[in-house]
Amino acid sequence: MCIFCDIIHHEIPSKVVYEDDQVLAILDIAQVTKGHTLVMPKKHVENLLECDDETAAHLIQVVKKLAVQIQARTGAAAINILNNNGELAGQTVKHLHFHIIPRYNENDAFVCEFKESEKQDLDEVLALIQ
Ligand code: AMP
Ligand code: ZN
Repeated sequence: MCIFCDIIHHEIPSKVVYEDDQVLAILDIAQVTKGHTLVMPKKHVENLLECDDETAAHLIQVVKKLAVQIQARTGAAAINILNNNGELAGQTVKHLHFHIIPRYNENDAFVCEFKESEKQDLDEVLALIQ
């Protein structure tokens, strides 16, 4: 049972922004800002890390194309593109999706803040992740 699969199969209504054989884009039901759009593969995959490269490549092409279109149509000053992978990262729907969030001003409802945590030894971090 996946709410986005139900939307993809037209069992739950949605406002479709874009559709092709592999990808569906819909308006987020809770518009963080005007034009907030979700872009998802039609194939059920839980998150980006589990997605095959071909699907991911097409998905990101559609995300880019729609971001350009949405910014032009809304007149937004900027766009955030967000993808949450895992509950701790804020993922609530376990079907891969990108958020396209138009930004209008500093006081709009979207908040994303990078705070520096404790100092890291960058060489150690590199050795760990490379
Ligand atoms: P995330 O927290 O990244 O998993 O985002 C899930 C998003 O799906 C949230 O922004 C919800 O508002 C949105 N959402 C949940 N149900 C629906 C629905 N039926 N139609 C459109 N958007 C939905
Ligand atoms: Zn699904």
